[in-house]
Amino acid sequence: MASYSGMRAVAVAGLVWLAAVLSWHAPEAGAHDSAAVLAADEPSIDLTPHLEVLEDPSRQLTVEDVRRPPGDGRFVHVDHGGTLAGISGSAFWVRFRLRTAPELAEPLLLVLGYPLLDRVDLYQPLPGGGGFRRQTAGDAVPFGTRPLGLRLPTFELAPTGGETQPVYLRVVSTGPLQAPLSLWQKNAFLVAYEARQVWVGAFVGAMVVVSGLALLLYVVMRDRLFLLFSGFLGGYTTLQLVLSGLAFQHLWPSATAWASQAAPVMVALTGASTTAFVRELLDSRLRLPRLDRGLRLLHVVGALVAVAALVDVSLAIRLAALYGLAVCLLATVGSVYVASRGQRSAAYFAAALTALLLGMATASLSYLGVTPYRALTLHAMEVGSALLVVLTALAVSDRIRSLLRSRAQASESAQRYLTALNQELERLVGDRTAALERKNAELKQLASRDSLTGLLNHKSTVEELDRLLKSASRYGEPLAVVMADIDHFKDVNDRFGHQAGDRVLTAVSRVLASSVRAGDLCGRYGGEEFLLVLPKATAATATELAERLREAVAGLVLPELAGAGVTASFGVAAADPAGQPVTADAVIRRADDELYRAKRDGRDRVRTAPAASGPRLEAVRQSAS
Ligand code: GH3
Ligand code: MG
Ligand code: MG
Repeated sequence: MASYSGMRAVAVAGLVWLAAVLSWHAPEAGAHDSAAVLAADEPSIDLTPHLEVLEDPSRQLTVEDVRRPPGDGRFVHVDHGGTLAGISGSAFWVRFRLRTAPELAEPLLLVLGYPLLDRVDLYQPLPGGGGFRRQTAGDAVPFGTRPLGLRLPTFELAPTGGETQPVYLRVVSTGPLQAPLSLWQKNAFLVAYEARQVWVGAFVGAMVVVSGLALLLYVVMRDRLFLLFSGFLGGYTTLQLVLSGLAFQHLWPSATAWASQAAPVMVALTGASTTAFVRELLDSRLRLPRLDRGLRLLHVVGALVAVAALVDVSLAIRLAALYGLAVCLLATVGSVYVASRGQRSAAYFAAALTALLLGMATASLSYLGVTPYRALTLHAMEVGSALLVVLTALAVSDRIRSLLRSRAQASESAQRYLTALNQELERLVGDRTAALERKNAELKQLASRDSLTGLLNHKSTVEELDRLLKSASRYGEPLAVVMADIDHFKDVNDRFGHQAGDRVLTAVSRVLASSVRAGDLCGRYGGEEFLLVLPKATAATATELAERLREAVAGLVLPELAGAGVTASFGVAAADPAGQPVTADAVIRRADDELYRAKRDGRDRVRTAPAASGPRLEAVRQSAS
């Protein structure tokens, strides 16, 4: 929305400007043949409708040559608010006929509203027809020699006492030839001039303050945009000082050659600082690469203008006018385009630049001699500049705001992204940890099991026994162990081979493991030795169990042994719940002793260790061997 109305404003402003410029070409008929008359009660009159001009390409003519025939007959009327020519190497003689009211006795002021002419000589006839009084101004002569030390070339004219008198000016300049002349009663002029000086001072002061503030902001915030904004304002202000004649008056009053070069050089510098500022503000390098190339190309043109100013000022002024137009046009087109894509800072700047563009375009056209200098109406500079500064400051602050906003958004979304990443990471770590725990459990299982029989291996069996012994002792419960060993197993291997031996081992282990209660343990203690751990079992119940196991083993039918059977011997030992805590080693040793006793006694039988204090328990039942 904003961009649409912004573009409409640009279009409307353009049309108004065009109409204004064109209207200056409308001829003001009828006034030129009459003398300029200043009445006693008139503060000032505009002389431009009364001007006649004689071009002197040779620059040789004197006032005597132009006041008499044939010279005086060659004067032609000019209009266009005092435009004599665009840029020209000729000298121009300007003539107007003046009659002041008889009552006017004080000297009058002839004011040239254009401060950039190189040299202006004023010739007023002396009383009695004997020669002329000559006064000289212009920036090719030191400021100190001016008849009146004012920014605008100003001359004293004697009142004509009711007579009609011709007044002559000779004008030469490297720049455009403009003579917006007006005649003032002295007091009226001083009042108007003072008032105007206040405005000029306010304008320059405001510009200096704002560009100083921008510089300060740059120092504090380190954002290049502020530096470039300050440069842009500084350049623009200096250019205005040069164009208004204030720079010549206050900065380089004796530098007469530089005074003419300063305008194109300052146009080049201001153009460069404007271009740099616009590129940064619109971020054109990324957003509008083609426009950006154009703006960069303009830097080259600007440099050419500056160089030309040192070589050929007239050429430089012409180039500078075109260059200024191009900078304004490109910058405006770019900012209107960016504004139309929704960047509000660009909309402000587009409006500001449009104001500047119209001013600069008008000035440029007048420097090229197309429009009169006077089309730059009173206060145009101040109003345009104030608009420019306010709107550009708005544009800059808006840009900063949107930068800060997008920075905040970026950090917010970065935060969100980080949080999401963290959650994902936590989930991954959780998954991995669970997988590792599963793997660990598997490994632990693998490490604690015997690979052939799937029973607990030696180490785990002893550890478990240790743990269960401690628990039994803590609760005062009994615990028994049974050590089993297959009889003559070496022979099995020898007769039927190791693979058959393995299968026998597996079969026996299955018998043992399947016969114990839940909570009991069955481990492979050694090659063909097994250890059963029976919590809460007394020696008697363990012996009963061992007997059952012995029978089960003996009853195994094993095809791989080709009808031959297998037997095992058992040693039982119990830990006394009432006695001292015993170690796993001790209880195993006792069971082992009983196992050897069973072997010695003929194998395929059970032997039980006697209780630590009490009569030795004999096997409840002996196998029928
Ligand atoms: P005894 O009745 O005195 O116990 O006689 P034995 O032959 O069983 O005892 P010995 O200790 O002399 O021999 C044990 C044999 O068990 C020796 C070894 O080859 C065999 N053995 C040990 N572990 C394995 C195994 O994993 N697989 C096979 N096939 N044989 C094994
Ligand atoms: Mg054996
Ligand atoms: Mg053995």
